[in-house]
Amino acid sequence: MEKRLRQFNVGMFMIAALILGALVFTGFMSGHPWALTCYQCKACNLKCPLGYDVSLFVAASATNNPNLYMSATNLQLTVEEAYETDRDMLVEVDGKKMTAEEAHEEFSPDMVVWARKLRVKDAAKFDPIDGYCDSLCPIGLPVTNAIRDLKSDGEFNGR
Ligand code: SF4
Repeated sequence: MEKRLRQFNVGMFMIAALILGALVFTGFMSGHPWALTCYQCKACNLKCPLGYDVSLFVAASATNNPNLYMSATNLQLTVEEAYETDRDMLVEVDGKKMTAEEAHEEFSPDMVVWARKLRVKDAAKFDPIDGYCDSLCPIGLPVTNAIRDLKSDGEFNGR
C-alpha cells in the first residue's frame, strides 16, 4: 500500500512539473514571462472602462494563446464589426445572448450590440486607450505591454 502511495505521489509530482514546465515555456515564447507571476487577484479589472476581464490578457501571455475568450461588460460594436472580427464572439441584443453569426443573420449590419465574450486579441484591438490597468496591479505587472503587443497583429511578439 505504501509503495502504491509513493508511486502515486511521484506520478502527481511529475504531472505538476510537466504542467509548470509547459507554462514557463509558453510564457517565454510569448515574450512576456512576467505573466507567470500573476496570481489572478483581478484587481486590474477594476479600472477598465470597457469592463474587460483584464487578467485574461495576462493569462493569454502566460499560455501564449491570444485566442482565449474574455468577458466584457461595456463594449459596443456594430453587428458587422462583431461578425467580421469573429463569428463566434458572444454578443447581446435586448438581453438575449447569441453569436455574432446569429446576430448577423437576424439583424441589420449597422445595428449596435454589446460584446459579451471576445478573444483576447480582439479585445486588444478594440481597446482605445492601449490599456489603463497597470496602476492597480499590486505587484506592478506591465499588463499594458501585452495589450500593445497584441494590438499590432493579434499575436504575441514580445514587445
Ligand atoms: S492585478 Fe496584477 S496580479 Fe492581479 S490579476 Fe491583474 S495582473 Fe495579475
